[in-house]
Amino acid sequence: EANQSGNFIKTIIQDDLEQGRHDHIVTRFPPEPNGYLHIGHAKSIFVNFGMAEAFGGDCTLRFDDTNPEKESQEYIDSIKRDVEWLGYEWKGPVRFASDYFDRLYEYAEELIRNGHAYVCSLDPETAASYRGTLKEAGKNSPYRDRSVEENLDLFRRMRAGEFAEGEHALRAKIDMASPNMNLRDPILYRIRFLHHHQTGDKWCIYPMYDFTHPLSDAEEGVTHSLCTLEFEDHRPLYDWVLENVTPPCRPRQIEFARLNVNYTITSKRKLMRLVNEGYVDAWNDPRMPTLSGMRRRGFTPASIRQFCDMVGINKTGGTVDLGMLEHAIRDDLNKHAPRAMCVLHPVKLVLTNYPEGQRESLTVPVHPQDESMGTREVTWTRELYIDQNDFAEVPPRKWKRLSPGNAVRLRGGYVITCTDFVQDDEGNVTEIHAEYDPATLGVNPEGYKPKGVIHWVSAETAVDLELRLYDRLFGVENPGADKERDYIEDLNPENLVTLYGCKGEENLAEPRRDIAYQFEREGYFFFDPEVSDGDRIVLNRTVTLRDSWAK
Ligand code: ATP
Ligand code: MG
Ligand code: MG
Repeated sequence: EANQSGNFIKTIIQDDLEQGRHDHIVTRFPPEPNGYLHIGHAKSIFVNFGMAEAFGGDCTLRFDDTNPEKESQEYIDSIKRDVEWLGYEWKGPVRFASDYFDRLYEYAEELIRNGHAYVCSLDPETAASYRGTLKEAGKNSPYRDRSVEENLDLFRRMRAGEFAEGEHALRAKIDMASPNMNLRDPILYRIRFLHHHQTGDKWCIYPMYDFTHPLSDAEEGVTHSLCTLEFEDHRPLYDWVLENVTPPCRPRQIEFARLNVNYTITSKRKLMRLVNEGYVDAWNDPRMPTLSGMRRRGFTPASIRQFCDMVGINKTGGTVDLGMLEHAIRDDLNKHAPRAMCVLHPVKLVLTNYPEGQRESLTVPVHPQDESMGTREVTWTRELYIDQNDFAEVPPRKWKRLSPGNAVRLRGGYVITCTDFVQDDEGNVTEIHAEYDPATLGVNPEGYKPKGVIHWVSAETAVDLELRLYDRLFGVENPGADKERDYIEDLNPENLVTLYGCKGEENLAEPRRDIAYQFEREGYFFFDPEVSDGDRIVLNRTVTLRDSWAK
């Protein structure tokens, strides 16, 4: 499946294998459990798990949990579920960066002993002012030349909880004049009196990401640490850490471009605000670009992997058209979605020449192009529903639907000819009358030609459905691009329209939960178990039928 041929990471790994630098590839996916995974993370999952898969290697799942105040078990659980749902299997147990806190602490002492780290006692503001700017070198901390003994003593007492937050920090001793700001004696450990979801109250000092990440990679035997481009100028620090202690192996960091999708936001922080301030119902609201939201909307894992594959892996960023994601899900559902009929805007159709009380069962295919999916039964009765939009009192030119005096075929059923219609005081059509032609089941009528084929359901067996029609969450291509304006204002006010009282064929009384349906002529719809309840059956529109994406 993973058509990752030609991607530059694959070339690098291939070369590392050929040169004998590794004989087994290990990658990792390292989410921070501070939110739900979104479509951007899907790309990282696809790259990390996909590369391991391509070379018969392994990928670990590691929670990067060094900021306990923003993290929670809820996020951990959701992330595991999402990775599994995408169809990937991590190697070994789920790991946490916090699993390595003891080892990391030893590495920190090793750095101190080797003269590569020191305890700095500048208050945070002064330390920040000493950092300098891009144009101007920073200033050495007056604590930079503390003795190894003093550093060890202070660091141990930091760990023992003898100091307040901000009073001291452990810093790498690198170069306050480096053009790379990340190398200006970055902080390795800071004091935080925080309860941690994994380690409880064991620690009151927490390691920084740039120190934790390379060493966690090394502890797990990661060979290639694949991350997004914003870490490119952290790579010298990644390498510095590994060079200045004695890790079990030397992983290599390789960066690739982040995935950006138009009309979409891929930032946990910004998505969280939509949840917290009620612009959407939850992280898994079907409008959200989260994996849990997309799952609830009816996206399939295969379509998301297909999308990531189409996007490709490269070094240059850019924004991908949301239409491409929609194309991927349409493509998958067109092949695999069972078909069903559902009338969104029902109007009664009475077959005046069909006996009252009579019924017949019509056998129709579940999928018109895939016989292996079998058949289904739909009931034909005197009273049916069709869509208001499929009837015109005065047909426009080239009208391919029903109008007075004209015939259409009801999909899978007979040809009918409209004889009459009833209107209310406001001129709304409330009932349509027609005669069916008993000689037309599966055969063309003789002597006249139906205008088209429309969908229908039996009024006697129809089930009431609530349909949620989604449009793009944001109404502008690049939400949040205008810094003068709050990105909330970029939301599409019409991103959800709910239709009540839609009429579905009887087979929808207990809708499938494993895959979306194609409601013929209408779109793809997926059962929502979270809001459906007893007789209230709710389906989310995954995507419309029409593909606007230009390849
Ligand atoms: P966010 O900005 O949404 O908070 P993050 O990078 O802070 O994302 P992490 O939990 O640290 O979130 O992400 C785990 C991995 O997923 C990281 O390696 C990160 O680079 C990658 N990732 C996050 N967003 C994207 C994206 N839009 N495209 C590709 N990879 C991404
Ligand atoms: Mg991160
Ligand atoms: Mg982030």
